[in-house]
Amino acid sequence: MLTNDQLGQWDRETFFHPSTHLAQHARGETPTRVITGGSGVHIEDRDGSRLLDAFAGLYCVNVGYGRPEIAEAIAAQAKELAYYHAYVGHGTEASITLAKMILDRAPKNMSKVYFGLGGSDANETNIKLVWYYNNILGRPEKKKIISRWRGYHGSGLMTGSLTGLELFHKKFDLPLSQVIHTDAPYYFRRPDAAMSEEQFSTHLAAELEKLIETEGADTIAAFIGEPVLGTGGIVPPPAGYWEKIQAVLKKHDILLIADEVVTGFGRLGTMFGSDHYGIEADIITIAKGLTSAYAPLSGSIVSDKVWKVLEKGTDENGAIGHGWTYSAHPIGAAAGVANLKLIDSLGLVDNAGKTGAYFVKAMQDALGNHAHVGEIRGEGMLCAVEFVEDKADRRFFDAGRKIGPQVAAALLKQGVIGRAMPQGDILGFAPPLCLTQAEADTVVAAAKKAVSEVL
Ligand code: PLP
Repeated sequence: MLTNDQLGQWDRETFFHPSTHLAQHARGETPTRVITGGSGVHIEDRDGSRLLDAFAGLYCVNVGYGRPEIAEAIAAQAKELAYYHAYVGHGTEASITLAKMILDRAPKNMSKVYFGLGGSDANETNIKLVWYYNNILGRPEKKKIISRWRGYHGSGLMTGSLTGLELFHKKFDLPLSQVIHTDAPYYFRRPDAAMSEEQFSTHLAAELEKLIETEGADTIAAFIGEPVLGTGGIVPPPAGYWEKIQAVLKKHDILLIADEVVTGFGRLGTMFGSDHYGIEADIITIAKGLTSAYAPLSGSIVSDKVWKVLEKGTDENGAIGHGWTYSAHPIGAAAGVANLKLIDSLGLVDNAGKTGAYFVKAMQDALGNHAHVGEIRGEGMLCAVEFVEDKADRRFFDAGRKIGPQVAAALLKQGVIGRAMPQGDILGFAPPLCLTQAEADTVVAAAKKAVSEVL
């Protein structure tokens, strides 16, 4: 067996890690962590540590680790047929069944599922579909996409542009010119402390409308947003936000893409975030929780309204020129079917709502009064702790002094994984949906101790 030192050396010499400080890692300043196993909410590494993963990987292992039902479905599919493409009417029992299962669970205005590999490519698909849609409708100028600052929609050229986080633009010449950003529904950082949530939502809707009118509604194709901002800081929207935003979009005939890569399949305590907030999207992006990351698979669920235009487009122009080799990959589809069955049989949507609410409240009770905790917020199985130097004016610590990463490191020493979010000073939690109250208590106790060690 290879030694840890050997693996560490090969890792530093050969492995280009995503979202990583490359120079630090090459110098050995960030360790190589070899993860070897997992069960429920825990993972194990090669050093023998057992860690409670309160971020479910990258908020994706929704059913928890080590589920034999999914592993067996994957193995059975691989033995029977590991691959065939999905072009021109081809499919497998798993891919067709999965499309049906997704539509059975999706909001009622949805019509078809296009399968991809991950959230980024699904959102690339969505933008192409929106452009195609407007071309078929004879509106070639209606192409710009509005996204929010702090939104996260992927790391591709278009999706990295839609993402509203500086780290993902810097030195990549992004965002592309077709993308415009509007303000985030981030109530804690509202411009005027006296605003109520409803007033802030009204303000954001008015800002959006101003932007649309300045650019010209006939140049704007779609608005994309996560029901709850994820990577941008785990920020549930203020009261009334989605209702007011949707009214503006409808008025100006702008499509709505709900990016449910994180919120889809139960994380908010409802099957979709759209159900939770009364969002009637034209396209819904799904990934992560679709297979609980047991195999890569994503999807673009398109509404009847969009689908009818796509169909018309192919009658006029021939087959749609968009397809991946691995669209509807049989192994991903088999994982998806087994995963959705498990979410139902274990009652995980319900647990995400109930245990999630317990978890957020326990975190608020433990840390809400701390002098340097500005806010603890959450929805379903999502929770964020935001650090401030001064609670009264919500001021950050001085540049260079970030608390979130230090608390995450202190947490890790206690065997609990949280995530310092990439922008701001925020520690995020997004545990598997099977988290129990006892496990939630463990995370909260560890967070309390970690914060007391750092501050
Ligand atoms: N959309 C959202 C809301 C996400 O959180 C992510 C990833 O975190 C993506 C899209 C991109 O998904 P992927 O990393 O699978 O490409």
